[in-house]
Amino acid sequence: MSKTRNTTPDMHNKPRRSAVKAAPKLGAAKKSNNDHYDVMIIGGGLSGGALASLLGTEGFRVACIDRDAPVTQTTEEFDGRTTAISWGSQKILDRAGVWDELDPLACPIRTIDILDGGSPVLLRFGSEEVGDQSFGWIFENRLIRIALFNRMKELDSVDHLAPAQIEKLEQNGDVMQVTLKGGRTLTAPLVVGADGRNSFTRDWAGITSRSWSYNQRAIVCVAEHEHPHNNVAVEHFHEQGPFATLPMMDGPDGSYRSSVVWTEHCPEHQSALKYPQDVFDAALTARFPDQYGWVRQAGGRFAYPLGLQHAHTYTATRLALVADAAHGIHPIAGQGLNLGFRDLDALCDILIAARDDGSDFGSDEILARYERARRADNMAMAGATDSLNRLFSTGLPPLPLLRKIGLKMVAKFPPAKQFFMQQAMGAGSGSRGLLHDLVREAKTAS
Ligand SMILES: Cc1cc2nc3c(=O)[nH]c(=O)nc-3n(C[C@H](O)[C@H](O)[C@H](O)COP(=O)(O)OP(=O)(O)OC[C@H]3O[C@@H](n4cnc5c(N)ncnc54)[C@H](O)[C@@H]3O)c2cc1C
Repeated sequence: MSKTRNTTPDMHNKPRRSAVKAAPKLGAAKKSNNDHYDVMIIGGGLSGGALASLLGTEGFRVACIDRDAPVTQTTEEFDGRTTAISWGSQKILDRAGVWDELDPLACPIRTIDILDGGSPVLLRFGSEEVGDQSFGWIFENRLIRIALFNRMKELDSVDHLAPAQIEKLEQNGDVMQVTLKGGRTLTAPLVVGADGRNSFTRDWAGITSRSWSYNQRAIVCVAEHEHPHNNVAVEHFHEQGPFATLPMMDGPDGSYRSSVVWTEHCPEHQSALKYPQDVFDAALTARFPDQYGWVRQAGGRFAYPLGLQHAHTYTATRLALVADAAHGIHPIAGQGLNLGFRDLDALCDILIAARDDGSDFGSDEILARYERARRADNMAMAGATDSLNRLFSTGLPPLPLLRKIGLKMVAKFPPAKQFFMQQAMGAGSGSRGLLHDLVREAKTAS
């Protein structure tokens, strides 16, 4: 990985030609001579890989275990999603040593348009209102995974074990022990579950969650369109649920592309997932704003059932949960992984402080510190996305009218607009004041 590339996020309005199709340089996991680690991470996806990279960069000895091989996890079929990475997450990815590789693949969001039903744009957030900074960057998930896998391979103190099947997880006094299929045993004072919504680690610890289904699914695909997106992200609220388009880097053939997150709550047999290609393409064209011209699906179509899930506690003896293993939220605001990254950042800081003090990484006191650091922020975002979805996924009077009035009021009331832009940039409680700092920096520079 080049160390000389500029780490400053790209601010250009025009998407660059991407290196999207670059073949993943993935190799076999490094073999370690010593199977005792500072931290063992179960789940080496977006959050597990990022935590391993963060901790490895800080010199911790880490084992990151995933059941799926890196080559499987980086195919286009494995995960069709893109992620809107906020400013807060950009800083965390930089700290983890992966931003250099991701920077050329980032498509900046310069404008966010909010539409409701058949009305024209009700609310527009423009980067010129926030010191000409972008609101965040869109990445294909598989490209984030490739960067994380490369980083873990590069770090001497990280063993990325994938594919690896966990046969047994045990607590033996002051150590946690993982036995892998084949007999290899690994130990550490702390295990972190980064194994997603259906977390094995959470179940093993007997941690229950508060959860409910939204009876909605998100249909996700990449769309090619006739005209450029001009770095605009669109959130269009329909009775069925929000329809979002997110600007992507141009395709390898120069095609203009956006990622689609189409929320629906119809029975499965009526789902857009089942539409014949010509019907689906026509439906996309009808839902995209007119200025995109014709629109057609490129690549696969994916469906994700939507629900909210929040673990009653993030910790158990010598165990912590992070990201989706701890909390899964509605993608309406594109904040799920950004929230998870804030868990990783907080846990990393707490473990650094523990190392400086000579404390046990898995002690109850350290784990309680982590829970205290993250619970309120996660609950607030889970509540906010839940309310947004309920408010914007209904056609029942008088809510559509109230929504329109509300959006118009936000558009006309600068402090409210600033607040929402701050949230969009990921400057929530984890990085309070970031937006103001950015604006101040930009003003000072100009
Ligand atoms: C439609 C949609 C759009 C989204 N858009 C955004 C967005 O724009 N911005 C944003 O911030 N968030 C977004 N999110 C949320 C984001 O995708 C998730 O928060 C994120 O994928 C969580 O990552 P994770 O690593 O915690 O879990 P996962 O991605 O589920 O990864 C879990 C990993 O653990 C491994 N694993 C599981 N069980 C085991 C086991 N027993 N042993 C070993 N390994 C195991 C899996 O193989 C996998 O690699 C979106 C979500 C959806 C559904």
